[in-house]
Amino acid sequence: MSPLHAGDGATPLYDRFGRPLTNLRVMVTGRCNFSCFFCHMEGYEESRAREVELSLDEIHVLAEAAKRVGVRAVKITGGEPTLREDLSDIVSLLSSHGFYVSMTTNASLLHRHLPAIVDAGIGHVNVSLHSLNPLAFQKITGSNLLDRVVENIKLLRDHGVPVKINTVILKGINEDDIERLVDFAAEVGASLQFIELHPVGRGVKTFREHHLPRWRVLEKLEGRIVEIRYRVGLHNRPVVLLDNGVRVEIVGPVGNHMFCAACTRIRVTYDFKLIPCLNWRGAPVEVRPRLASASSFEEKVEAVIEALRAVNRLREPYVKCPLHAPPIGPKRRWRIARLGLPKRDGTLSLVGRDPSRVSKLLAEEWGDYLA
Ligand code: SAM
Repeated sequence: MSPLHAGDGATPLYDRFGRPLTNLRVMVTGRCNFSCFFCHMEGYEESRAREVELSLDEIHVLAEAAKRVGVRAVKITGGEPTLREDLSDIVSLLSSHGFYVSMTTNASLLHRHLPAIVDAGIGHVNVSLHSLNPLAFQKITGSNLLDRVVENIKLLRDHGVPVKINTVILKGINEDDIERLVDFAAEVGASLQFIELHPVGRGVKTFREHHLPRWRVLEKLEGRIVEIRYRVGLHNRPVVLLDNGVRVEIVGPVGNHMFCAACTRIRVTYDFKLIPCLNWRGAPVEVRPRLASASSFEEKVEAVIEALRAVNRLREPYVKCPLHAPPIGPKRRWRIARLGLPKRDGTLSLVGRDPSRVSKLLAEEWGDYLA
């Protein structure tokens, strides 16, 4: 099921830039068993306190409210979500509301939740794997569980769960892993996501030393690229198909107005606050105080809908660009297809070498937005 087609007819909220709100990223815990030196903490603070975490009842109210305002996909994240013993209940609750449910995890404890999360309806799992070299893995994550992570990727494959490997590209640390990870992905039948280091949280301090521009990935893989597409439903992410069949997504938010133009998500923190963007530095929308005076389930859902509307009003592209600005990055690589900003009615304008092909891709990915 496509993340953009999981809804049952509810109209999504749009922000004043015309961007729909279709995706939630829910931190189900602030605890983590790794300590990645660049961690952005999902734009929020770390917490070791289990007591403040979203309860299953709160997730139920959130799910009902989100469904009614047209949210279609939920990404479970943290902290480390597999530290939640009730993870499969969370997945089951969300998928029973019709959402496309996925999860981002370091996978070190994933075996404890299989096959339960599969039975509960997980759509795919993003596994963070920043290096296949044990020393680099340890340096990045503070953990020596590389073998366990690799085993659990294979376990996911054996359970038929699609895996996306998340790799933050880091200058001087894992540049040489890019091609090894491509081979590894082919071996285990996974796709890959190379993520540009984001200067948020611990990433602020490490950015100057370790930031590697996103197009470095394309340079490294140049001879192997068969096709480039764009995932316009989410951040206009370039999706590269390689000669060995591996699909590589490039997640490059830094200074990238194309990325922000197609952002369709908000974030829910483990202590039930809503934030519009990873880069948001203002006060979050607090949900728990709004729930204090609600007694019935229906009143609670109404209160959360109001909170979702409030955070939607705070949404805006973090990086904006003047109209008619030239494409970013080395021109020859990024000129293949340029997309205009989605308009309020959901349509997109196209500029590119072959607009008819791009428009076919858009129709596949955006479906009802283009209708
Ligand atoms: N603990 C889980 C994990 O390791 O996947 C989920 C939480 S983690 C914050 C979510 C994703 O964000 C991971 O793939 C991680 O590598 C990525 N990430 C963390 N800090 C980042 C940063 N500064 N820049 C880019 N990506 C980052």
